[in-house]
Amino acid sequence: MSNRRTIPQAPAPPKRDDGLDCEICGNRMHERSCKIICRNCGFTRDCSDP
Ligand SMILES: [Zn+2]
Repeated sequence: MSNRRTIPQAPAPPKRDDGLDCEICGNRMHERSCKIICRNCGFTRDCSDP
């Protein structure tokens, strides 16, 4: 029998450059004067960080 079921894969959502998620808590971060700040946990990141 060759009854193979194909599992439908959900297409990955397009990544947006103007939105960063906190790598600590995954919350949305806000950019402010070249600093990206997470308002949830307080994690800050330089916007020029690769
Ligand atoms: Zn956070």
